[in-house]
Amino acid sequence: MRRPLEIRLSVGGIMAEVDVLLRGFPGVSSRGYFGWCNVVLIRSGGEILLFDTGSHGDRALLLKELEGRGLGPRDIDLVVISHLHFDHCLNADLFKGARLLISEEDVGYACSDRPDAAGDTFVPRAHAERLAELAEPLRDGDRITGEVEAMALPGHTPGLMGLFLRGEGIVLASDSVKNAWEFARMDPTACFHGKGDAIESMRRIAGVAKVVIPGHDRPFEIQGGRIKYRGGIKVEISAMLAPELEGPIRYSISAGPEP
Ligand SMILES: [Zn+2]
Repeated sequence: MRRPLEIRLSVGGIMAEVDVLLRGFPGVSSRGYFGWCNVVLIRSGGEILLFDTGSHGDRALLLKELEGRGLGPRDIDLVVISHLHFDHCLNADLFKGARLLISEEDVGYACSDRPDAAGDTFVPRAHAERLAELAEPLRDGDRITGEVEAMALPGHTPGLMGLFLRGEGIVLASDSVKNAWEFARMDPTACFHGKGDAIESMRRIAGVAKVVIPGHDRPFEIQGGRIKYRGGIKVEISAMLAPELEGPIRYSISAGPEP
């Protein structure tokens, strides 16, 4: 089944597909961050690349979404982890046959005392150390496959690495742009490496992007300096709130067209 957020593009005869497997959500709760990031599948250069993997709670849905496309974990050739926060890296171990690519700067950060010093509580240290052993280093401008390039976007963490599909101006920004709200204001939040660098990264994106896939929001276009979302967002939460009720109470949060 084709998904509404899928972006198909053809550049110089190369067909690339950008397919949002799990949709990001720009929400926080009284219990902390949901951590629901965009998990994106890219087919380019004859290879299948996964950009970010979500957190452990995403694992079953991630496998289901892959299965719905006729894919299993062994079909993924490349896994790029934008940065070693729990909500982006905790399913990387599923893809045992894939090359794992992480920025060497982010690996160095996650496996040091620097997150603690910066008040960054989101690094799953034991997991990050294991991934650091397996990862190949990724640097700004590296051509990964087909037309997919690495794009260094520091600020949220020192080594955050996005992807750039130059032909169509698509930037997979991860948490250098967590949502369109902060991008529209050029006002990044949660800058564990530094707000100046984070703003600079947003400006770099604004200079080249026609479409931004943020860390935790719908993909959006920038048209004449204005944000135009691609597709809608819908999250449903159900809660077993009382034994006398027939079943759970369901809550729905949505914006824009039905995804
Ligand atoms: Zn993060």
